[in-house]
Amino acid sequence: MKTQDTFKKIISHCKEYGYIFQSSEIYDGLSAVYDYGPYGAELKKNIKDYWWAAMVKLHENIVGIDTAIFMHPKIWKASGHVDAFNDPLVDNKDSKKRYRADTLIEDYIANKIDKKINKEIEKARKRFGDAFDEQQYRETNPRVAANIAKRKDIMDAFTKAMEAGDMEALKAVIVDNEIVDPETGSKNWTDVRQFNLMFATKMGAVAEGADTIYLRPETAQGIFVNFLNVQKTSRQKIPFGIAQIGKAFRNEIVARQFIFRMREFEQMEMQFFVRPGTEMEWYHKWKETRMKWHRTMFPEAKLRFHDHDNLAHYANAAADVEFEFPFGFKELEGIHSRTDFDLKAHQDLSGKKLQYFDPEIDDSYIPYVVETSIGVDRMFLATISNALVDEEVPDSKGGTATRTVLKIHPALCPVKVAILPLVKTDEKLTTKAREIFNQIKFAHNCQYDEKDAIGRRYRRQDAIGTPYCVTVDGQTIEDNTVTLRERDSMEQIRIAIDELESHIAAKLDFRTLLS
Ligand code: ATP
Repeated sequence: MKTQDTFKKIISHCKEYGYIFQSSEIYDGLSAVYDYGPYGAELKKNIKDYWWAAMVKLHENIVGIDTAIFMHPKIWKASGHVDAFNDPLVDNKDSKKRYRADTLIEDYIANKIDKKINKEIEKARKRFGDAFDEQQYRETNPRVAANIAKRKDIMDAFTKAMEAGDMEALKAVIVDNEIVDPETGSKNWTDVRQFNLMFATKMGAVAEGADTIYLRPETAQGIFVNFLNVQKTSRQKIPFGIAQIGKAFRNEIVARQFIFRMREFEQMEMQFFVRPGTEMEWYHKWKETRMKWHRTMFPEAKLRFHDHDNLAHYANAAADVEFEFPFGFKELEGIHSRTDFDLKAHQDLSGKKLQYFDPEIDDSYIPYVVETSIGVDRMFLATISNALVDEEVPDSKGGTATRTVLKIHPALCPVKVAILPLVKTDEKLTTKAREIFNQIKFAHNCQYDEKDAIGRRYRRQDAIGTPYCVTVDGQTIEDNTVTLRERDSMEQIRIAIDELESHIAAKLDFRTLLS
């Protein structure tokens, strides 16, 4: 299936099976805002619980908090968001489409130059076989060397323009390299201008004279300004971390990728406070720890690091964990060494000391911070993208049929068990099935379903991602056993009702992922 088709299928599956709806759909929708349906809300909650378990529950030195979305406007001045949380924006005069100038240039490098370089190298690799020396080929093949040099020139000019916030220089990179509108091929660009991504509103009963406040663009600042409150009340010693899950808002310029880039989204962030000078050690530790977490859910081939050359104003090292979405490898999580930038800025602007007394070295200092920051919604999209498959299965007539199945890890699935009476017309079966449902529902998220033929009900549960189906039939009434069907293998076993709960419990427990 083409990548575009795969992505469309994910979006329509999410809608059809109650995972995600466009916000305000009956009014033709609100761009880049989405609502989570009954199964979506469950999956989202499980993803958050799994992150919380891995970060807060498993680490004695990480505590969780929950801070307000509204904060004092000076916070965003100190953090640099008022002055520097901008994206460079450019419009195409012919197509009227709006782009981020930086992504336009990055995509040009990836799709035009890198692709050419890699194609030449792959061709040569096939031609030379085992004797192929890639490094030598990169340096000596004139076409490859020319493209590598061109790439370096563009990257240098691009990085310099971004660091200096020089919008004219950024436009020059687009014009000089004849970068076109990817949808229409037009080169007719407006000037590049800065666009602040924060949403502003007014606080107070009277808008006139009221203070402008912002909807937080990240949850991290709520952690920084509470750093000492938390440290003192939880009696933590450095190194320690503060974690938080919450909504964030960004007025994104280009938002065309479903829940990948939203204007209202949710973040799971952890700020780890360390002694100055030890931050690189912790940065590498957290990179590895977070990658391990992702590997518990996704195959290694779908994950990679991308180390940043172009650093944010607050960072001295940064890397993304990238996931292979249907539209390519993209950022799923950011890991940043944020230095003492935020705490220092808040100390300076508020006039309140944000220092930690370290008894081990008998000295006070502003801690350095390593941050891990992941979007819940992006994690959700990665989970669904990784899980949704169409596969050939044997049908009841000896032929084959296609089934659509969401192979989400059982511990994260919205519904854990479906209880299905074989036929709905037999009261003995429905009563027994209800009995089992009423017993299991205290332990696991269950669904009772008696509508349609059993085969269709199995397919429906496969599409929702339910790992277990329990079928109640005539034999159940005689010997108190049921058929237990497992989603991925479609294997069916006969099992006593009494053993049901413990049999499935192990697989549904987060511990199967965490250990
Ligand atoms: P991008 O480069 O894709 O704009 P970013 O580098 O600005 O992302 P961060 O500020 O590092 O993102 O935010 C941390 C995490 O929050 C990201 O890794 C991503 O998972 C999530 N995130 C950021 N912006 C959005 C958004 N508009 N919609 C959904 N998730 C987002």
